[in-house]
Amino acid sequence: MSKVALITGATRGIGKQIAINLATAGYDIAINYRSENDDLVNTKKEIESKNVKCIAVKGDVSNFEDTKRFVDEVIEAFGQIDVLVNNAGVTKDKLILRMDKEDFESVINVNLVGTFNVTKNVVPYMMKKRTGRIINISSVVGISGNAGQSNYSASKAGIIGFTKSLAKELASRNILVNSIAPGFIETDMTAVLKDDIKSEISKNIPLQRMGTSNDVANVVKFLASDDSSYITGQVINVDGGMLM
Ligand code: NAP
Repeated sequence: MSKVALITGATRGIGKQIAINLATAGYDIAINYRSENDDLVNTKKEIESKNVKCIAVKGDVSNFEDTKRFVDEVIEAFGQIDVLVNNAGVTKDKLILRMDKEDFESVINVNLVGTFNVTKNVVPYMMKKRTGRIINISSVVGISGNAGQSNYSASKAGIIGFTKSLAKELASRNILVNSIAPGFIETDMTAVLKDDIKSEISKNIPLQRMGTSNDVANVVKFLASDDSSYITGQVINVDGGMLM
């Protein structure tokens, strides 16, 4: 029987590439999406072209009831979840003087509370099987901080604390929990940056380029695989050497 991976926010960007790379590795795939659009249709088609099963489950990760329902849908379809990738994330960048409470809370609610919501609903199934992999997408700014991103950085730092705590809680059940901290990756999230800012950023990266979704997805594939069976509670930077 194939292993099953659930990836949140998987219709575009890094989440989409993670889903495709895990499909290529033979996993059946459940993609979580929030908005119904062409991205969803195209992603599902691309995954199915890898000869694996794919279902799409709708829901906002910041809404606990949504996450409970869509995790149940995945279990109903596949009977198990072997790998959970908490990828869904948003930014709302502002300096603190301009950032209101809603700007702060909404980012924490999607990125950090969303990670809790989905994990909380998936863990009982992994515990029953006494095996599982949870991979949480954090960010280098969760380690370094970044001006204008106090909400986002706090959410990503929270994900690191959450990852390490769960790794300790769940190790005895053979559930491995790790985090990936990407640097600057070319997706819609960073497309808003002006070209001169992007080239300035690239100059300060030892590998002299922004990363690709594939750079991140390949590390997810490793953390999901048997090759990483002695790694838990870690944060792996995928940032071209930006943060050392
Ligand atoms: P992206 O292109 O903006 O895609 C984000 C995805 O998350 C979309 O599919 C989006 O769905 C989904 N999403 C957002 N809010 C959601 C919610 N409440 N419920 C369910 N899905 C939701 O972003 P990305 O660059 O691929 O980022 C993916 C992850 O990597 C995020 O956690 C991000 O913080 C992290 N990361 C990215 C970078 C970077 O440089 N790009 C760097 C470090 C970390 P919709 O299509 O419905 O909006």
